[in-house]
Amino acid sequence: MPRPIKATINLDAFRHNLAVVRRHAPRAAVFAVIKADAYGHGVMRAAHALASAEGYALLEVDAAVRLREAGYGQRIALLEGVFGPRDLEVAAEHRLAIAIHSQEQVRMLEAAPADARFDVLLKINTGMNRLGFTSAEFAAVFDRLQQHPRVAQLTLMTHFANADDARGVNWQMECLERLASASALPRCLANSAAILRYPETHADWVRPGVMLYGCSPFADVSAATLGLQPVMTLASELIAVRELQPGERIGYGGAFEAARPTRVGIVACGYADGYPRHAPTGTPIVVGGQRTRTLGRVSMDMLCADLCAIPAAGVGTPVTLWGTGLSADEVAAAAGTVSYELLCALAPRVPVTEV
Ligand SMILES: *Cc1c(COP(=O)(O)O)cnc(C)c1O
Repeated sequence: MPRPIKATINLDAFRHNLAVVRRHAPRAAVFAVIKADAYGHGVMRAAHALASAEGYALLEVDAAVRLREAGYGQRIALLEGVFGPRDLEVAAEHRLAIAIHSQEQVRMLEAAPADARFDVLLKINTGMNRLGFTSAEFAAVFDRLQQHPRVAQLTLMTHFANADDARGVNWQMECLERLASASALPRCLANSAAILRYPETHADWVRPGVMLYGCSPFADVSAATLGLQPVMTLASELIAVRELQPGERIGYGGAFEAARPTRVGIVACGYADGYPRHAPTGTPIVVGGQRTRTLGRVSMDMLCADLCAIPAAGVGTPVTLWGTGLSADEVAAAAGTVSYELLCALAPRVPVTEV
């Protein structure tokens, strides 16, 4: 018998969540964001399930090439563009769309072979202040690229810093309008939060990520409320059960001390599987279909669950860490992080099955 942990990927949920994107942004083409191995779900698996998307967006060049070689004909965009001249050759050969966010990348493009033609996403910094051209740089770069013989197609792109919170997108949209209102070029602006909350950002292409995986981009709105279905379910089983007497502690550092007789289940899942080590006592977990809480510190291969209200639970009882029945958003919030981080951290040692 293998160790009981497994991740299950629900391919129908991918399709369902893409339909939610379409319902919100009916006129936009979709770049399905599948960076970071599709947020831990497996890039080829996600691409297959989301094959009705008009494009894919990621930043790993090798994965983009694998998609092309597997026969996907859609637009495939490199969100951070190329990291060196060799990537540019690969992009030309495989018809990858490339973000251009810096003067170095403009120079690389200009130095490409004369017969190379690129689909370029011109990245504008409207306030996120990571990548992209500032207001001061924009006009000159725009003119240079628009006329350049290596550029076959130009799309304007920006990224929102606060689409999920009270600051919103207006301040960045105003910046974009100041720079680009005169241009009729296609635009690609919205991440999941903007797709769900700001129709005025939808434009020509949208870039949903986390919502395709069935998680919420908002701290205060659940995925279920948004009509999203979890794609990944991380499940395991109890491999031991014990009874703590009052005053006894459990796990490293004795971080949980029993105040009364406490039945505890030991779950075959730890931080080496991708479960967050900083999840404190009280993090939600489902045992035998019933919601309970973790107790004490998460170890490398195990964690502990409170069985006081689940007398029927014993060795072999199924446990859901996150997914169907318990959103990764809730586990993440208890652990002081976001579901993105949990999904991406799924460890290679966890076997994955598809349903
Ligand atoms: C990751 C990413 C997205 C997707 O963001 P979500 O919040 O997961 O929807 C969109 N655009 C860019 C540039 C990204 O890096």
